[in-house]
Amino acid sequence: MLNGYTYSQINYTVHWFCSSKMAGCLARIRRLPDGKILRVNTVHNHPPPNYVVCHDGKKENVKMIPTRSGKKFLLMLDSFTYSQINYSVRWVCSSKAQGCEARLRYYPSGEIVRVNTQHNHPPPKYICRNGVYIKL
Ligand SMILES: [Zn+2]
Ligand SMILES: [Zn+2]
Repeated sequence: MLNGYTYSQINYTVHWFCSSKMAGCLARIRRLPDGKILRVNTVHNHPPPNYVVCHDGKKENVKMIPTRSGKKFLLMLDSFTYSQINYSVRWVCSSKAQGCEARLRYYPSGEIVRVNTQHNHPPPKYICRNGVYIKL
């Protein structure tokens, strides 16, 4: 997402096209491996899509997000996502592989024990579209 517009990556290359390309938008950017963004063309023929972050209003604001495979879920709490360990009550930060030590317990009753919610990174960016979370 850049300036409110969303882009889709083409075949894992550095080329990203506006998500409204199908609607005739010619905007495109390049995202270099080092994270730099080249604004090849950021003139859109439409306003930015209206994305809203989901809030379910529950006390703990927990969300279960299906993964791409659809078989597992990520647990989202305070904007951070956690992965379940072997279908137990233990969940570890999705960025554990990057050295984040955050973890919690989530009981079938819905109770959450925040064992450690100190993350060494910013929360992942998710958007909610038609009630479905999409990772940016
Ligand atoms: Zn566009
Ligand atoms: Zn983390």
